[in-house]
Amino acid sequence: MIGKAAACARHADRSLILYCRDCSLATCELCFILQHNGHSFADIEQVLDQLRAQLDGVLERMQNRTSALGHQLDTILSYRDRLASNIDVRTAVSN
Ligand SMILES: [Zn+2]
Ligand SMILES: [Zn+2]
Repeated sequence: MIGKAAACARHADRSLILYCRDCSLATCELCFILQHNGHSFADIEQVLDQLRAQLDGVLERMQNRTSALGHQLDTILSYRDRLASNIDVRTAVSN
């Protein structure tokens, strides 16, 4: 996301540099003045940074969960293998 900010759809010479918190929308400063008067805004770079940080946190949690699940799966598989070998022994004995 580094580089030139996207241009405003209404004002080609303006960049989308503001983020309207009320509308959850990126705007240029002209659009903000005209259409979002009195709304609360944030610097779009800050918002992007926050979103990126949130996304990183989510990805990290998902990775942790996936490795935890993988560990459980290993346990279940080895348990199943043990059960399977027990059953083999029992059928061998009963026959
Ligand atoms: Zn605009
Ligand atoms: Zn707004």
